[in-house]
Amino acid sequence: MFWERDFEILSRPELEKLQLSRLRKTLHQASHASYYGSLFRALGLSAESIKSLDDVRKLPLTSKQDLRDNFPYGFLTLSKRSVVRLHSSSGTTGNPTVVFHNRHDIDSWANLMARSLYCAGVRDSDVFQNICGYGLFTGGLGFQYGAERLGCLSIPAGAGNSPRQIKLMRDYGTTVAHAIPSYLNRLYEVFQQEGLEPREATQLRAFVIGAEPHSEEQRRRIEEMFGVKAYNSFGLSEMNGPGVAFECRHQNGLHVWEDAFLVEILDPETLEPVADGEFGELVMTTLDREAMPLVRYRTRDLTRILPGPCPCGRTHVRLDRIVGRSDDMFIIKGCNVFPMQIESVLMKVPGVGAEYLITLDTIDGADEMLLEVETSGDLGVAGDVEAGREGDNDNSRLNALARSIGRRIRDEVLVTPIVRLRAPGSLPRAEGKAVRVKDLRARSL
Ligand code: ADP
Ligand code: ZN
Repeated sequence: MFWERDFEILSRPELEKLQLSRLRKTLHQASHASYYGSLFRALGLSAESIKSLDDVRKLPLTSKQDLRDNFPYGFLTLSKRSVVRLHSSSGTTGNPTVVFHNRHDIDSWANLMARSLYCAGVRDSDVFQNICGYGLFTGGLGFQYGAERLGCLSIPAGAGNSPRQIKLMRDYGTTVAHAIPSYLNRLYEVFQQEGLEPREATQLRAFVIGAEPHSEEQRRRIEEMFGVKAYNSFGLSEMNGPGVAFECRHQNGLHVWEDAFLVEILDPETLEPVADGEFGELVMTTLDREAMPLVRYRTRDLTRILPGPCPCGRTHVRLDRIVGRSDDMFIIKGCNVFPMQIESVLMKVPGVGAEYLITLDTIDGADEMLLEVETSGDLGVAGDVEAGREGDNDNSRLNALARSIGRRIRDEVLVTPIVRLRAPGSLPRAEGKAVRVKDLRARSL
C-alpha cells in the first residue's frame, strides 16, 4: 500500500513534530548560504527563533527574483566540491535560476519520486517510458531516478519523435508512461495516422501527466483516448522538479509530501494565510535539502488545500489541481481570466478537438479575445469558420458549434470571445510546454 510507511501515514502530531525539527535544521543549514546568512543576521533570525510551526511566518519569503539576483552561488550552502549536480532554467528572460544538489539531495529526491510513482499505483513489474526531455529540465532525470529506485524496467525515451515513442511502447510492452498532457494529444494523432488504436496496439495502463496546467476535462479526454488512467504529477524545479505532489489511485487531488516540504497557502496580495480550503498562492519550504534549502519560496502557483482525509490512508494533505500561475491570469474587458477556465469549458463541448489558442488583440481600438479552436476529426472542417461577429459563415452546423462555444465561454468568464474554428492539426504545436495565450494588445503605457 505504501512506499514508505514510516512517513506516509504519520499522524498529524507526529508529522508536525518531524516538520518542526526539520525546519530548524533547514534554517541552520540555510544560514550557511551567503544570501540567507546575511538576511537572517539582519533580521535577527536563527533556528532558535522557531518554537512552533506557526513561527514559520516570522521568516522572510523568497522569490524567483531573489534566486536570479543571487545567481549563481548565492543560495549554495556547501562548497562546490560537495555538490554533485545542478539543474537550471533556460534563462531566456534574464539570469537563469539554478538549483544545486549534493548526494543526499539526489538520493532523497529519487526516493520522493519512487514514492510518488508508487502512490499512483506504479510497481516494479511495470515498464515505464519517460517521454520528456533529459538534461537541465528536471522531468527527465527526476523520473528516471525514481523509476529505477522503484524497480521498474525504465525506458529513457526523451521527448518528441512520436513514431519512435510508439515503436518503443510496442516493442517493449510499456505499461506506464510519463509525459506532459499537451504532448499526449499529439501522440494520439500520430497513433491515428499510423492506423493504430492505443487500446489495441499497446499495453499501456496508466500515464502520469504534469509539468503544465491542464483541466480535469483534459485528463478525462486523455484517459478516454488511450484507455488508461492518468494521474496528475506536480513539481517545480526550485523544489527539485517532479515529486513534490502526486495523485494517488483515488485521483482526488495531489498529496504533497509534507515530510519534505512545508506548505503554506497565502493570499498573493496581503501575503497572509488564506482561510482553510481557500485558494491562494502556494508557498513552500524545503525540509530535507542540504545543498540549497529554500525558505518560504513563492511558487506563484494558485491552488488550495482540499479538506478531509483521503481513503488511501496517506495523511499528507492534498492540493487541488493548480488553476494556473498568478502571472498566467490575464485581464480582458475588466474581467480576470485564467486559461484553464477556458480549457475546462472547451473540453466539455462535443466536436472540439485537442488544441486551442487564445489571442488577445486590439481590434478597431477595442480589446478582443480571439479564441481559435480545432474541431475534432469527425466534424471535417476543411478551412476556417468564424463566428461570434456579424457576417457568419453559412455552414449551419459549424456555426452552431462556434456560437455555442462563444456562449459557454461568456457564461464562464463574462467575456464573449470571437471564436474561430480551425481544421484538426492546423494550430501550432509547442515543442515543450503548451503555449495557450498570445497577448498582442497595443500597450498604452
Ligand atoms: P518553468 O518555471 O520554466 O515552467 P518548471 O519546470 O520548474 O519550469 O515548471 C514548474 C511549473 O510548472 C510549476 O510552478 C507549475 O506552474 C507548472 N506545473 C508543474 N506541474 C503541474 C501540474 N501538475 N499542474 C499544473 N501546473 C503544473
Ligand atoms: Zn490518497
